[in-house]
Amino acid sequence: MGLDEEKIQELEKQGIILTTVNKLMNYARVNSFWPVTFGLACCAIEMMSAGAARYDLSRFGYEVFRATPRHADLMIVAGTVTKKMAPLVKRIYEQMPEPKWVIAMGSCATSGGPFVDSYHVVPGVDTLIPVDVYIQGCPPRPEALIYGMLQLKKKVIHPEIARLKNHGN
Ligand code: SF4
Repeated sequence: MGLDEEKIQELEKQGIILTTVNKLMNYARVNSFWPVTFGLACCAIEMMSAGAARYDLSRFGYEVFRATPRHADLMIVAGTVTKKMAPLVKRIYEQMPEPKWVIAMGSCATSGGPFVDSYHVVPGVDTLIPVDVYIQGCPPRPEALIYGMLQLKKKVIHPEIARLKNHGN
């Protein structure tokens, strides 16, 4: 039996918050993303900088970079995705358990960047796997990555924001 609006408001006045288990889990998840340790090119240097003392990603609870995709829920694609690396990027993504999210960091990961016309470059990682947040720049500064992770946080808390599904598979 569902609760009517009046009853819900009455419970809220008593300090009782009603939610679903999934929503509650999402509040925990967004304060402890576990990115997989994974970098492809120059953008990865900025990602490492974001995790180090100066930018201190750990302020947001995001510092636990995992050495295995099986323990991670966030892939930050930082760098140029070459056609040689593409199957490995996809395999790492598939090895991550659900729920999982992807950030395309920098022009290369977003769209192929300055190498988009090269014979060996994938024109954006979203042609391989679904991407949740795109961060522009060549390279984006650590602040931009942190901003992107905070945008992802909003997206996870508000799942009604549609996930972009323009990947080829
Ligand atoms: S976007 Fe620029 S800095 Fe980042 S991987 Fe590509 S070339 Fe390097």
